[in-house]
Amino acid sequence: MLCLKCGSEVGSIGELAAHVVRCPSQVNVLCPVCKERVATGQLLIHILQKHVSSSVCPLCRTRFKQSKQLLPHLREHFIAEIESKGGKKYICLICGRDFTSKRSARVHVLKAHEKGWKEERS
Ligand SMILES: [Zn+2]
Ligand SMILES: [Zn+2]
Ligand SMILES: [Zn+2]
Ligand SMILES: [Zn+2]
Repeated sequence: MLCLKCGSEVGSIGELAAHVVRCPSQVNVLCPVCKERVATGQLLIHILQKHVSSSVCPLCRTRFKQSKQLLPHLREHFIAEIESKGGKKYICLICGRDFTSKRSARVHVLKAHEKGWKEERS
């Protein structure tokens, strides 16, 4: 697993989640597809615009019947579920913020990492 903030390789998704919370914030993060530095607020838009052709996920190659199913799926790649003392936690792998529900993590990704995206443009 690749830390999108500092670019270091971390063994598992659990280790990555623990790492990314402590990793210093960056203005730009690495695109997991092309490894270019992209503004944190634009990462999902960058992936959609640069790496999505038709309706295939560029990260796991899953094919969707409709392209609008792709964005909700893409968000899931950046949310890690971990067990902590206080119960389950959901970590945004782009910026390292943690959430107590998956729902709030999804809303966060949408608001923080897809700035300016209009669904109807797709
Ligand atoms: Zn890092
Ligand atoms: Zn890219
Ligand atoms: Zn995928
Ligand atoms: Zn985030």
